[in-house]
Formats: sequence, C-alpha cells, structure tokens
Amino acid sequence: MRKIYMDYSATTPLHPEVIALMTDVMKNVFGNPSSLHSFGREAKKYLDEARQKVADLIGAKFEEIYFTGGGTEADNIAVFGTAYAHRKKGKHIITSAVEHHAVLDSCAKLAKSGFEVTFLPVDQYGMVDPEQVKKEIRSDTILISIMHANNETGTIQPIEEISKIAKEHDVFFHTDCVQSVGKIPVNVDKLGADLITLSSHKIYGPKGVGALYKRKGVRVEPLFYGGGQERKIRSGTENTLGIIGFGKAAEIAVREFDIENTRVKGLRDRLIKGVLEKIPDVRLNGHPEKRLPNNAHFSFAYVEGESLLLSLDMKGIAVSSGSACSSSSLQPSHVLTASGLPQELVHGSVRFTLGRENTEEDVDYVLSVLPGIVERFRSFSPLVGRKTV
Ligand SMILES: *Cc1c(COP(=O)(O)O)cnc(C)c1O
Repeated sequence: MRKIYMDYSATTPLHPEVIALMTDVMKNVFGNPSSLHSFGREAKKYLDEARQKVADLIGAKFEEIYFTGGGTEADNIAVFGTAYAHRKKGKHIITSAVEHHAVLDSCAKLAKSGFEVTFLPVDQYGMVDPEQVKKEIRSDTILISIMHANNETGTIQPIEEISKIAKEHDVFFHTDCVQSVGKIPVNVDKLGADLITLSSHKIYGPKGVGALYKRKGVRVEPLFYGGGQERKIRSGTENTLGIIGFGKAAEIAVREFDIENTRVKGLRDRLIKGVLEKIPDVRLNGHPEKRLPNNAHFSFAYVEGESLLLSLDMKGIAVSSGSACSSSSLQPSHVLTASGLPQELVHGSVRFTLGRENTEEDVDYVLSVLPGIVERFRSFSPLVGRKTV
C-alpha cells in the first residue's frame, strides 16, 4: 500500500545527507568536546561547525547559539531563565493563548509561583493583536513570549511589530521559531527577538536536540547546573552526534529554502483548493494567507477528527487531528478553542503538513480518498444538516 506522510509539523524524517554525516560521525568521532586531547578537539571542531551553521540559519552570531535537548528545553530556559534572572525587576509576563505547551505550561507554572502571567486572546485566525500586547505592558513586565508560527494552524504572528513594542518598553522578547524556521524567513535582527527557540527534528535533523538563540548581553538563569557546558546556560556533556546532525540540517535548510518551499507551497495550495472544492461544509482553519507554506488545517463539520485520522491511516495517509502533542490526551485543541471555533468544529479538525517527500501524486491520492471517507462518516451522523460552518 502507498504510504504518504503528511505530518511534517509533528516531526520530519532525517535528510539523507544528515544520515550520511551522522553515520560517519557515529563511527569515527566520539571524543568529549571538553577534552583537551586530539579526540576532544576533533569533536569540538564538529561542534563549532554545527554552531556556525545554526547561527547562519537565523542570521545570528556563533556565540549567540546555545544547544539544548530540544525545542521544549529551549522554551523552558527562555521562560523560566528570564523570569528567574529578572525577578527583581518585575514579575509580569505576557504570552498568548495559542503558544506551544512548552511555553504555555511553563508560564502557567510561573503563575503558580509568584509571577503574574497575561495570556493574550487571539482573533478567529489565531492571530495576536500587537496593540493588545502594548496595552497589557506594565512597569513590572519582564518578558513577552509570542511564537512566530503556530504548530497547529500555521498562522504567522506579527512578530516584528510585537518585538518593536517590547523594545520600546524595555521588555525582553522571546519567540518560538520551531515551526517557522526553514519555511519562512527567520532572521534575528529582522524579528528583533532577544531569545529564539529552534528544534532540529522539525527541519529534517535528529530528535532530542535544539537551540536557544540568546542575543549578546541578555541574561537568563540556567535550569541545569554541572559542568558549565554551553557557556553555563546548559550544563551536561553535549549531544555531539545530534548537534552535528542538526548543523547539517540547518545548512540544508538554507540551501534548499527557496526551491523546497515553493514546491511544497504549490502542493499545499493544490490540497486546500481540492478539499474546499470537493467537500462541502469544511472550514480552513488559521489565517488564509499569513500561514506556513506547508500547512493545511481543516475542520470537517459532523465528523470526528480522530476518526478521520484513523480512516486516512488505513489508507496509508498520516495526518494529525488537532495537535499531535495533545492528541493522546484527547483534550480539545487549545489553539482552535482560543480562536473561537465552536467545539464541534474543534473536534472535527485535521492537520495536513507537507514536506520534502510529498509529490503531486500524493496530494491527488489524498483528494481521491478523503471526500469518500468524510461522506461515509457523515452518512452515520445524526448532526448532519445542522448548520455549523
Ligand atoms: C515541536 C515544537 C516544540 C517542541 O520541540 P521539541 O524539540 O519536540 O521539544 C516547541 N514549539 C513548537 C512550536 C513546536 O512545534
């Protein structure tokens, strides 16, 4: 049976060039990059190369990149690390209701331990209003954390405007760029961020490795203590193999940016057009234009997203319902709920995220099976006919 992966926002397969480099390094490079002998120096050389490549990916300086154990960890360092380092200045943090749980739950934890957090609402597209950010800033606000692009709907936030407001008010600004990097331009100066989160496995690198960009001079407290690696921001012997793979993935992301995103966007547009044409009572979630080039997120009225996911899976098509991270908890998507979607449409949501290995034939195959699946579920549903879209 055909196997079609359309869940690239959950994770991506390793790029063949990443596999090749990692395989070579796995066999030949094992030194501890902190060791002074030749084995250590060789590992350090690879580590430095990877750091430069990740820096180049976002227009940062070599020494502004701190490797972490993934995007979640970088988000945690950004949120807790800033809060702890600047608690004497103030205890107020601003974030949005649609952040990834790594930011959302970190902020919620701080709110339980003496900090105050404002969770900004969003509009029907999941978009934050910069004016509202401005209104919520207080004299004791120390951090604003708003993601660049949403992992569920793909909606792109007005980060440049928000970071300008943060700067005007002398507040640190963090943005989670895990989903945006490699798909839309991410440049530290253009975005104007003090802290940026990246993750390797969303850009064809290995899992369990990410990076925090920290602008020179910005102070955060570490969450781990130990050997003082990563200039004390993230103690613990570096995941050299993972970091080297991440570096390669970053290099490829720069090299293939234009050609790959143009190609994937074409496929994604074909998918959206086909679904909206072939299936009645369907809503495209997220912003119609300001969205990631690989994201198509729909709500099908009168259908359960999980049931659709499983039926598509039986046809060899891998998608996610709502967010992959929360689909096991069966919690309705906080992103769609915050965007004001009625609960029945939240439950009928399915996310298609395309990537490197998708072809036009893949899209056409999805378009050939999806309408029938939706129609079959609807034929069993007592709700059909109730207007929800
Ligand atoms: C995947 C993801 C994360 C978490 O990154 P991990 O490397 O999986 O820990 C954080 N933020 C966003 C927006 C993501 O999509």
